[in-house]
Amino acid sequence: MSEGASKAQEKRKIQAIKGVRDILPPETALWNRVEQTAHEVFATYGFSEIRLPIFEETELFARSIGAETDVVSKEMYSFDDRDETSISLRPEATASVCRAYIQHNMQQLPQPVKLYYMGPMFRRERPQKGRYRQFYQIGAEVLSHTGDLKDDARVDAEVIEMLTTFFEKAGLEGTALYLNSIGCKECRPKYVELLRAALTKVKDKLGPDSQRRIETNPLRVLDSKLESEQAIIEKLPRIAEHLCPDCLEEYTEVKKQLAMRGISYAQNFRLVRGLDYYMRTTFEITAPGLGSQNAVCGGGRYDGLVELLGGPPTKGIGFAIGTDRVILSLQDMRKLPVERALDVYVAWMGEKNYPAAVKIARRLREAGLAVELPPGEMKFGKALGLADKLGARYALIIGDDEVASGQFTVKRLEDGEQKKLGERELVAYLKAGEAP
Ligand code: AMP
Repeated sequence: MSEGASKAQEKRKIQAIKGVRDILPPETALWNRVEQTAHEVFATYGFSEIRLPIFEETELFARSIGAETDVVSKEMYSFDDRDETSISLRPEATASVCRAYIQHNMQQLPQPVKLYYMGPMFRRERPQKGRYRQFYQIGAEVLSHTGDLKDDARVDAEVIEMLTTFFEKAGLEGTALYLNSIGCKECRPKYVELLRAALTKVKDKLGPDSQRRIETNPLRVLDSKLESEQAIIEKLPRIAEHLCPDCLEEYTEVKKQLAMRGISYAQNFRLVRGLDYYMRTTFEITAPGLGSQNAVCGGGRYDGLVELLGGPPTKGIGFAIGTDRVILSLQDMRKLPVERALDVYVAWMGEKNYPAAVKIARRLREAGLAVELPPGEMKFGKALGLADKLGARYALIIGDDEVASGQFTVKRLEDGEQKKLGERELVAYLKAGEAP
């Protein structure tokens, strides 16, 4: 490469990778509020936070999510570590929670173990509104080796109750809950065969994707958004009508439990999940303002996953909320963040007065006020202009007279009212005028 070419390359503006974005203020204030709501609501339901690694052995995901699923076969960011172990950026976190449950012998803790997490996930999907390659999830899992079918149904319903509380407290309106049971090892394979046979009969009327899925994964045909397939799908056999007695008992009980809690839902026989480990109860929550990517939460039961990962027989139920989409929906509803306003802009004049400005700024910050102290000296007019632009409520003027007398001039920017106050009264005055 010539020197010129390498220079040109050095200057090339580097952009964030496709499908990956920066989340900037003031939007970050909304993210913090949503995450804080999750911390608070989940704690009231007895969940504790777990912080998980961002990358894991690839095999963890292959074994749990399923090697044949889109997420694992096409969408993972995987690389060989130096010792040649294949590592992947996590595409979801349930597998990691189960790994941690086994690794830390959590079966010895009082059951159930209730954990939640939040953080980035990575999937190499086609980016569009509400679909990113680095996206964020807030999720929770309940793991237990005790309890019967009835208990399971109650746990499922309580987890869903917690979710509805979360969405309500987060201010999300117009959400809808969809429920299904996708059976278990006993009844699902039989249903899949039934579905495959029904699909084979109408094969000619299906699009190429669905035709292929008749062989690979007939359940996914139910997921199809293709207009021409909708009428056909409506007539296909439905899993809820082919559940084994245990699955039927649990599904019936979950619905009873939801009704008892006053939670409305719609049954959706087309709700199948893209990950292999789900069984029985599955659900999805949608929100308005998101276009085609309108699912803000997916979840379900995954008894047996811990065993699959080498642990003891364990039942599990959990969900993952797509935080990016929750934020988009809140923005669509104009539930915009209220960022903390600036209380005081310190307009100091004269180099020798800077130490006094530093001292008073620290004092005000200690009192909990948000203070902007410009590092360089400025003309009075310019300082006031900036204070205004930043939305400060007060300008504190510190010049020779103020430092000499110990009386500071404070100007309320809303109406221009001006006062001279000593340090102690100043703190009290500014605190009294604080926004609620
Ligand atoms: P899943 O882990 O596939 O069950 O997804 C759970 C939730 O995560 C979905 O309902 C979405 O809200 C969110 N989600 C999944 N994939 C993405 C993505 N690529 N970008 C943004 N959100 C996503």
